[in-house]
Amino acid sequence: MAKQLLGKEVTAALNEKIKVRAAGLQEKGITPTLGIIRVGENGSDISYEKGATKRCETLGVSYVKFLLPEDVSETELLEVVDKVNKDDTIHGVLLFRPLPKHLNQTLIENALDPAKDVDCMTDGSMAGVFTGKQIGFPPCTAQACMEILDHYGIDCTGKKAVVVGRSLVVGKPAAMMLIKKNATVTICHTRTENMPSVVREADIIIVAAGRAGVVDDTYLRAGQTVIDVGINVNEEGKLCGDVDFARAEPIVDAITPVPGGVGSVTTSVLVGHVVEAAARKTTI
Ligand code: NAP
Repeated sequence: MAKQLLGKEVTAALNEKIKVRAAGLQEKGITPTLGIIRVGENGSDISYEKGATKRCETLGVSYVKFLLPEDVSETELLEVVDKVNKDDTIHGVLLFRPLPKHLNQTLIENALDPAKDVDCMTDGSMAGVFTGKQIGFPPCTAQACMEILDHYGIDCTGKKAVVVGRSLVVGKPAAMMLIKKNATVTICHTRTENMPSVVREADIIIVAAGRAGVVDDTYLRAGQTVIDVGINVNEEGKLCGDVDFARAEPIVDAITPVPGGVGSVTTSVLVGHVVEAAARKTTI
């Protein structure tokens, strides 16, 4: 039976640090503040927003919402981004994506001040992940995976790591972050040949494919650590990951459950970035 890497344990430790840091800033008269820009009424956006605002409240971080209609014009949305860029009381910004099709998402993402880019929307932040320079912030989900590895003392140095998925939101940045931790990294995607044997080689596996059960026991062996980023709804209407948990858990050494793994850590990483953004402002 694998050790379960539980999001709530990682989150509890992260939250303690964030709370102390936020309180320190409050003592200096700075209230770390998240600006939330949401276009439309997408259910999963609203649910993530609820989780984020609740986490802000418990950690001493303030938030301000900018709620815009689904048919908002590009000019109006850019004006809101400009407003938050200029507002010194807002330290980090969460913009829900994908944006409706009539909006130029790349243009809007890159209009944000990288200093406030707490979820790696801008090309500047992404460049920071690849160059190792401190420009903006890494994507919260990819960093959540690293926080889980760190919390459980899983040393990546010299280890073989496989990331399943090559999106800019999770797969590619997670691979860069594993390299920074001295792992030797392979990225798999839909064109990868003989994926089970590639994944079986790895000591550490991060799965971010967005396909329920894409990794099962035929990909796995004893001694592996598996981080499952996927959030899917199965045929019974239940939340599940990209890894077939029931078949993986008896084999591997350690695994994150879904739900209860990466998801809740992501929210704390986001709030932590807002506090870090506020702290960076004080040292400029
Ligand atoms: P995405 O943009 O759809 O990318 C999926 C990636 O997985 C693509 O690179 C795709 O390869 C690859 N892939 C898909 N099916 C595959 C297969 N059968 N074999 C190998 N590779 C395969 O998804 P994403 O935004 O990265 O998100 C991935 C998952 O993470 C989703 O389930 C999403 O809901 C979840 N997620 C969770 C959190 C969290 O906080 N827990 C946050 C963000 C996302 P190609 O490039 O070849 O198409």
